[in-house]
Parts: sequence; C-alpha cells; structure tokens
Amino acid sequence: MDSEEIKSETILEIEGLKTYYPTSRGMVKAVDDVTLNVHRSEFLGVVGESGSGKSTLGFSVLRLIPPPGRILDGSIQFEGIDILRLSNEEMRRLRGRKFGMIFQDPMTSLDPLLRIGEHIIETLCLHSDMSKKEAKTRATELLDLVGIGSERFDDYPHQFSGGMRQRVMIALAICLDPSLVIADEPTTALDVIVQARILDLISSLRKKYGLTLMLISHDLAAVIERCDTLAVMYAGQIVEYGTRRQIGKEPLHPYTQGLLKSTPNVRLVGAKASFITGPVPDMTQPPLGCRFHPRCPHAMEACRTTEPTVRRLDDNRVVRCHLY
Ligand code: SF4
Repeated sequence: MDSEEIKSETILEIEGLKTYYPTSRGMVKAVDDVTLNVHRSEFLGVVGESGSGKSTLGFSVLRLIPPPGRILDGSIQFEGIDILRLSNEEMRRLRGRKFGMIFQDPMTSLDPLLRIGEHIIETLCLHSDMSKKEAKTRATELLDLVGIGSERFDDYPHQFSGGMRQRVMIALAICLDPSLVIADEPTTALDVIVQARILDLISSLRKKYGLTLMLISHDLAAVIERCDTLAVMYAGQIVEYGTRRQIGKEPLHPYTQGLLKSTPNVRLVGAKASFITGPVPDMTQPPLGCRFHPRCPHAMEACRTTEPTVRRLDDNRVVRCHLY
C-alpha cells in the first residue's frame, strides 16, 4: 500500500487520547494527546523506545489499561462504535469478536492445562455459533496455517518453544476473523532468526486475509520492512506519521532520523550505526517545550520553551517539530 492507496474505510479513529497512570511521584502521561486513524487492511507499525507510550496506546484501544491507569480524555471510535462508552461486559464481547491480540509473552495468555487444539476450539465456540465439530476442523486448519502442524493438536503449551507458542497465539488471534489485530512486541522474547520468521508469518497472513494490523515494536528496522504506514512515538506522543516509503526515504522528525541511523544496515559495508544520546525522559516531568529537545541535535531556543504542534503536511504525513 502506498500513500495514494490509503483510501479504504477508516475502522479506528483515535482523537486526542490521554491515558495517564497516577504514581507516588506524580502523574505518568503515558499517552498524551494522540490522534491516529487506521484503515481497513492497513498494516500500521507503531514504533518508539521503551516508555514511549506505544504499548499503552494499544492497550487503550483494547480497554485493557491496568489500574490505577485511566483513559482521562479523548475518544476511540472503532467501526463506528464509541468504545469508551461501552460497559465492561459490552467491551469484553467486542474484544472477543472483533479484536485479535498477540502479546509479548504467550504463556500469560495460554492456559497451561489446556491442550492447544482445545484452546482454539474453546475460543471459537465461546465467541461464534460454530459447533464443536466445525471448530475442531477450523482449529486443525489453523494449526497447519501457522506452521505448527495439526499433529500437535493435543500438545500442551509447555511442550512448545517460544516461537511455536507465539504461532499458537497467532492462530488464536486470527481464528475469529477479527477486524483488527493488535500485536504488542510479539517477538521481543525470541532470538533474531525466530523473530524474523514470526514477523514474516504475521505479514504473509495479513496479505493472504487482508487483515488490519497494528504492530507495536521498538524495532524500527523490523517494522519498516513489512508495514504500510508508521506512527513514531516519543514521550507519549506521535511525533511523526507517514507511509513506509516516506519515512524510510525521508524521515522528517529528528527522533525518527535518529532511530533510522541507529539501525545497522548490512547493505552498507563499513557504515556505522549511530545512536540517540541521552536518556528517555521521566514521564512524570517531561521536558518543557519539545519533549525531545534535550536529545535533539537540531534544538533551537523555541524548542526549549514552546511545545510544537502537530503539523499535517498531506493526508498521510504528520510531524510534530518546529522545523516544519
Ligand atoms: Fe528538535 Fe526542536 Fe524539532 Fe523538537 S521541535 S525535534 S527539539 S528541532
């Protein structure tokens, strides 16, 4: 998908979202005024360093913010439904039917006492009107589809490697044909080769079934190879949004430029990766002005005093920086 092609129906509209966590040291503004749209069949990558708010953004959409965290302001419209107005029970049903979820640690989502085939059957029967026989046929197909093989239908989660468990999670995430799959750092706990295989699997399933996908990751290199669009987050805010090509060829925000430069490029022999200097900000007291200014090589006087506003350069290009 290219910039011109992102014209399909908007299925997720996030407007001015603020999700904060009260702590003894003050309020952590984990997501602070985020506006973002996701279109049907789009593969959106949400990237940023640890603590940038990207996972909180995903959990806000799912309404799975752990207390005492709370969504304090903004709106989230999903397929025309204002999900912040749903009761907990309505949201639980919507999550089951409409969202696929892939988390960092599959062991926290899989019942250790349930054989994986049964797990998929149980999910299918709970959230659809499939008979148990139909669900078993579907579960068998899914295990083959994600590369596990239906012969492992009766195995327990502990009998699988980390990568294979993540394949089970992928089968569970897509089994009900969800409108949106949210994958939060799905490969962080895996070795590099398995990481690439899992991301390739997610990518190929997305192409095959036209899945709408939000992939949350700290690994810009892994995401930019596969996604259509990218939202770069820093200190609770989206600092740049654009298509994969726009951001890969011409990153605008100094933070995005720093992230790309810190990515080793095996095609450039002798090229050295450079790194963004300085620590990520304390989110109970983010820097005044531009939150990136203490680390920015282009910081000007205005950057220390005045917070940059979001600048929309075209339909698919947004940047938050005084340089634009
Ligand atoms: Fe750097 Fe200023 Fe732009 Fe912030 S607003 S990224 S400090 S140039």
